[in-house]
Amino acid sequence: MKYVDKYKISEHDYYAFRLASGQYRAQTIVGDYPLFYVKPYLGILCNLCAANHDVQFVNINYGNDQLQCGCCKASIPSALGAQE
Ligand SMILES: [Zn+2]
Repeated sequence: MKYVDKYKISEHDYYAFRLASGQYRAQTIVGDYPLFYVKPYLGILCNLCAANHDVQFVNINYGNDQLQCGCCKASIPSALGAQE
C-alpha cells in the first residue's frame, strides 16, 4: 500500500477512539471529523472493520473523497468533501 500518514493509538487514548461497547468510533469526539484506521499489510479500515483486526493506527480523513475501507470497501467520508 502507499504511505499514509497515521498516528499510533496508545492505551492511554483508548476512549478517544473507542465507544464503551468496544466499537471503534467513526468520528472524533471533538469536531466530528471522520476517522479511519490503519493496519500494516491490510491498509485502511473503516471503524466497523477495525474491530475485527487489531488496528494500531488511526487518522482523520480531512480531504480524500476516494478513501475506501480495504476490507468491506465502504467509502470513508471526508471532512471537507470533494476537493476541487
Ligand atoms: Zn470496512
